[in-house]
Amino acid sequence: MVAALHKNPEQIRSELTASDCNLIHAAMGVSGEAGELLDAVKKAVIYRIPLNVENVIEELGDLEFFMEQIRAELGIPREETLAANMAKLAKRYENFKYSNAAAQARNDKA
Ligand SMILES: [Mg+2]
Repeated sequence: MVAALHKNPEQIRSELTASDCNLIHAAMGVSGEAGELLDAVKKAVIYRIPLNVENVIEELGDLEFFMEQIRAELGIPREETLAANMAKLAKRYENFKYSNAAAQARNDKA
């Protein structure tokens, strides 16, 4: 029943562009590197061993690499993403002050 809702993979493949492939590659990269960063934090927090900051720096760099691939593909300057994030947070947190209530209310989504 659910399978009837799946898009035909041959159709997906036939519709792919080089840009699509580049975006898929980069998005997979971001996801994979986020997992590697999470693993580094997990080892420190769960196994109670010192955080490997060198590894964290490496994974943050890897994330930047793949995020830049997405930005380049779409022609989005890094500064634009940072400004959009600041604008979102300004709506979410009055006077840029964190609160649990504001985090849950997510006023930027209203
Ligand atoms: Mg990595």
